[in-house]
Amino acid sequence: MKILDFLLKKRARLKSEGSETRLPKQLSLLPLRNSVMFPSTVMSIVVGREKSLKQIEEAFSRKEIIGVVSQKDEKIENPRPEDFYKTGTAASILRISKLNENTISVILQGLSRFSIREVIKEEPYFLARVDYIEDNWTSDIEAEALFLNLKEMARRTVALSKNVPNEFARMIENLNESGKFCDLVSSNLNIQVSEKQKILETFDIKTRLRYTALHLNRELQALELADKIHSDVVGNVSKAQKEFYLKEQLKAIKKELGESAEENSEMKELKTRITNAGMPEDVEKEAMKELGRLGKMHPSSSEYTVSRTYIEWLTDLPWKVETEDNLDLKNVAGILEEDHYDLEKLKKRIIEFLAVRKLKPDKKGPILCFAGPPGVGKTSLGKSIAKALGRKFIRISLGGTRDEAEIRGHRRTYVGALPGRIIQGIKRAGARNPVFMLDEIDKLGTDFRGDPASALLEVLDPEQNFAFSDHYLNLPFDLSKVMFIATANVLESIPPVLLDRMEVLNIPGYSEEEKVMIAKKHIIPKQVDEHGLKEEWVSFEDSALIDIIGNYTKESGLRNLEREIATICRMIAKEAAEGKTENVLLNQESIHKYLGPRKFFSEVALRLTRPGIATGLAWTMTGGDIIFIEASKMPGKGNLILTGQLGDVMKESAQAALTYIRSQATNYGIEENFYDKNDIHIHIPAGAIPKDGPSAGITLFIALLSLLTGEQVKSDVAMTGEITLRGTVLPVGGIKEKILAAKRAGIRKVILPSQNEKDMEEISPDHRKDMEFYFISTIDEVVEKAIEKEPLIPMMQKIHA
Ligand code: ADP
Repeated sequence: MKILDFLLKKRARLKSEGSETRLPKQLSLLPLRNSVMFPSTVMSIVVGREKSLKQIEEAFSRKEIIGVVSQKDEKIENPRPEDFYKTGTAASILRISKLNENTISVILQGLSRFSIREVIKEEPYFLARVDYIEDNWTSDIEAEALFLNLKEMARRTVALSKNVPNEFARMIENLNESGKFCDLVSSNLNIQVSEKQKILETFDIKTRLRYTALHLNRELQALELADKIHSDVVGNVSKAQKEFYLKEQLKAIKKELGESAEENSEMKELKTRITNAGMPEDVEKEAMKELGRLGKMHPSSSEYTVSRTYIEWLTDLPWKVETEDNLDLKNVAGILEEDHYDLEKLKKRIIEFLAVRKLKPDKKGPILCFAGPPGVGKTSLGKSIAKALGRKFIRISLGGTRDEAEIRGHRRTYVGALPGRIIQGIKRAGARNPVFMLDEIDKLGTDFRGDPASALLEVLDPEQNFAFSDHYLNLPFDLSKVMFIATANVLESIPPVLLDRMEVLNIPGYSEEEKVMIAKKHIIPKQVDEHGLKEEWVSFEDSALIDIIGNYTKESGLRNLEREIATICRMIAKEAAEGKTENVLLNQESIHKYLGPRKFFSEVALRLTRPGIATGLAWTMTGGDIIFIEASKMPGKGNLILTGQLGDVMKESAQAALTYIRSQATNYGIEENFYDKNDIHIHIPAGAIPKDGPSAGITLFIALLSLLTGEQVKSDVAMTGEITLRGTVLPVGGIKEKILAAKRAGIRKVILPSQNEKDMEEISPDHRKDMEFYFISTIDEVVEKAIEKEPLIPMMQKIHA
């Protein structure tokens, strides 16, 4: 602020020299773009316009006084006389300094108001004849009061403003001439140029005082408001801080005294939850004990969380909650009938089961196990039972479960321990008597982490499961009201101890006709509804369904069929959303539009084109399937090569078949010592899938016989049966699945062991329709039915036929 001091002193000096009295009659004019210069003030401006630069330089060098005027519009680059106000301030140039090539900074001292009489010259800069104006001053009380008021306001403004130099405050205190005081204040007001100019043009002091006060007051109010807002904010923050601080203190004091407000309410809540959970007495006692322990722990410790989670698990379990069974058997039967086609045996068994439950509620029911290939309705039947009974339905998949802890949970000492899946399922069900489906019980594994089957045994055993103990809970939970239903694809891989506890109900798979029926009655309406379509919009012809079943799916169940129908519905929904309104009729032709080219072809005709190939029937996880057995010979030393991932039993069957052929070679017209000069290779394609079992015996034999005799196997025949070394044929399993598989593959003739004839009772007339069955007991009968008697047609011809 040294400069300001210096300037003030210089001003005083100028005044004492009486320079004001020597004001010239003509002034060169300096137009300002965006400010107004007042007498008695010092102002620093930046000059960049060529005209002004010239003027300042000359005036400075000649120590001339200049006239400062304000432009009416700051945007005008080269103002004419009419573009600036006619009242200005005469000023002396105190200092100039060069900022760069084209700009200088000029410090001006305002001297006196003037008004332009006329502009004499415009070039090289403005020159005007001027008249100086004196303030119009009357000294009275009003003027005094106005002045004091303005001064007080100015003081307050300075006090509230930041960055006001002390010198300015001092100046305000010391300046007692009203007119100059107004000019000083006005020059610092944050108002528009036109407003400032108006003050400059106000020569009557009282009016100027009022006018200045008006503007200053506005500025002061704004400052006061800003100050209030600031102090409010500061006040609020400090209040919040104070509260926080006090709360923290309170907590610390409470902790010292061994109690905590928050925890107390949490403890109370947990206690209420425990008492309301309906726990058995000893469980509740244990929960309360744990709650006591929790109370002593520090809330931010990890044991606290563990203990709290445990208590929450205990309170969340449905210890007492039960849904009420709807044991109106007619209603149950109605629902089962409505949801599922056929499955009569199962439905009947379920009704019996419920009838017993009704008469003797405490009788411990058997555990049902639905066995069958995927997609035959095991899960949906389970759901339907739950719906009919009014119970909750829970399903867990046991496939790949190897760890006992998955069933029974981890002990709480493990980090992140949780209850096992049974207890988790019960919690999800929210009732202790749900229908609980244990899916894929045949795919349980065992390893070093314990045997999940033995844990399941406890779950399923009615003698034990009223007090099932989960490792995590470490308290008994009553599972006796749960209705467990297991599902499995094959029974062989179910641990025998478990199988022993269960009553197995077989669902073997469906024939084409059944699938069409189920699709029409259940799957299509379901999918149509799920895709937001109306039933009348979509209709399937039987031929379309048969096409999907035969050429787009290859399964015993209905999963893929359902998927394909869903695909069609999705596409129709899309078309409908795009504005297509016609109803869609799906027939054999239009189906391709939605599903693309066929996915499966009948392999039979393609495969049986030369001797050495026979069609067998196998029983697999996914129901039945047809398999091709290929035999080939090449010069060698009598080795038998077997490929295609054959299990031991199947390998032995192949050996037995070969042995039988060798022993009967001459009878079949085969060279007796063929085996010495040849190696024989038997391959069963789909090489990646393991195959085992004795039921391929007769097929292996027929393939070998065809190879060695050169007689082709009939392409429309498939066979199954175990072979003995004496040429008798023994019965095999999975007859229904195998027959359905043959039918699916388009094979109409099936050779079966005669001892399996009894199994035909299980096969509905529907399934038998259009099929021929040959029941045989010796291998010679098989040969008669399976080998083509006509002369062999060369392979090439057949392909071109
Ligand atoms: P799984 O559990 O045996 O693998 P799902 O229960 O998932 O088979 O059944 C697949 C689909 O087929 C379901 O949409 C189901 O409703 C339907 N489904 C299967 N069998 C029948 C049936 N007999 N009647 C009606 N729908 C059936």
